[in-house]
Amino acid sequence: MMDQKLFADYFVRPIESPIRALFPYLKDPSIIGFAGGNPAVDVFDVEGLRVAMSEAMCAPADGWAQYSATDGLPRLRQAIIGYMGRLGAQVDEASLLLTAGSQQALDLLARVLVNPGDKIIVERPTYPAAIQTFKSVGAQVIGVDSGPDGICLAHLRRILEASGPSARPKALYCVPTFGNPTGRTFSEQNRRDLLALASEFELLIIEDDPYSALKFEPLDVPSIHRLAQRDASTSGLVVYLSSLSKVMAPGMRIGWIVGAPSLVRRCAVAKQSVDLCSSSWTQAAAAVYIEAGRLEAHLPHACKVYGERAQAMQSSLSTLLGDRFEFDAPRGGMFIWGRFPAKVNAQALLKECIAQGMVFVPGDAFYADYADSSTARLCFSMCSPERIEEGVRRLAKALDRYESAQVVA
Ligand code: PMP
Repeated sequence: MMDQKLFADYFVRPIESPIRALFPYLKDPSIIGFAGGNPAVDVFDVEGLRVAMSEAMCAPADGWAQYSATDGLPRLRQAIIGYMGRLGAQVDEASLLLTAGSQQALDLLARVLVNPGDKIIVERPTYPAAIQTFKSVGAQVIGVDSGPDGICLAHLRRILEASGPSARPKALYCVPTFGNPTGRTFSEQNRRDLLALASEFELLIIEDDPYSALKFEPLDVPSIHRLAQRDASTSGLVVYLSSLSKVMAPGMRIGWIVGAPSLVRRCAVAKQSVDLCSSSWTQAAAAVYIEAGRLEAHLPHACKVYGERAQAMQSSLSTLLGDRFEFDAPRGGMFIWGRFPAKVNAQALLKECIAQGMVFVPGDAFYADYADSSTARLCFSMCSPERIEEGVRRLAKALDRYESAQVVA
């Protein structure tokens, strides 16, 4: 047993990921998995990835087997600049850093921005690994209310005004498009108003965008990053993160940061001490894959499959749970977020669900501060429509048993 005093303060009692703790259940075929936030293995373009990998390996080995530049393999940097351009965003070399997934992008930003005690604002609810990352560098993480339309700007203003100029929050972290966990998309007006408030208080916005390409209908709102780019006074206010994990394969570990060159350069220095460089091997394969046009050729299929699964989950929830689970219909992404009746504790319900053979993520995990314990995130990406229906049936049965046990108690 090691002496606890050896550990840095945060790692004496670190917060472990509550979602990854449920991963063993996702490997058990008898359990229907609505936990995790994984893309579906049956949606991967396995053949395309194999071809890209072997084609990449036919090139001279110093292009894929050697260490590469910290800011990313030049060939993949060009491919990502092209991809972002086709999405409507102008990205220049100095504004781009490739990372080992967008999780690393978050970690690098936390290292570069946060001194212990600094405030970071996150949505209520938000992506738990972002909370974990910011807390690990000593940030004080503050939740701002959010709703179907986006961030509650009156609440955000109150937080910013209450902080005063000397203790101003360093940044606001958000997932504005098909968010994790809510599946919600901020309206364009909410994005514009958020940007105006950020400009008034000189608040950096970290826009995390791994899901926007997974749309079930045309997406009619620009990224906050694109809105900010339209005006020189706001262009430095947004740092944008994205990833190939949900659209290509998370095993490649490829993400990126687009932001002000002064911020991006510092993130690159932080990356030097984290991993020297991302895997040259997977970066080379990703470059070949994107250059061949396979990413954009594959996306409509992924959107169609996830759209069908989202639809299957919505109709099963409405039919089998009715008003016992209130949720918003997502227009893309991988998640349905909802609320059981107030007397239901989702954490306790999960135990009954595991007994019935299904798992979901109780909502507590997604709150940086006070939680709403009757909420839950259900991921629809990994199961066929038939399994989704069966999973919701098991959830309904677990809820019946949970509620009758409450009545008896
Ligand atoms: N941000 C959000 C909102 C996510 O949901 C995820 C993955 N679940 C990540 C970042 C990290 O993804 P990756 O590192 O695989 O790009």
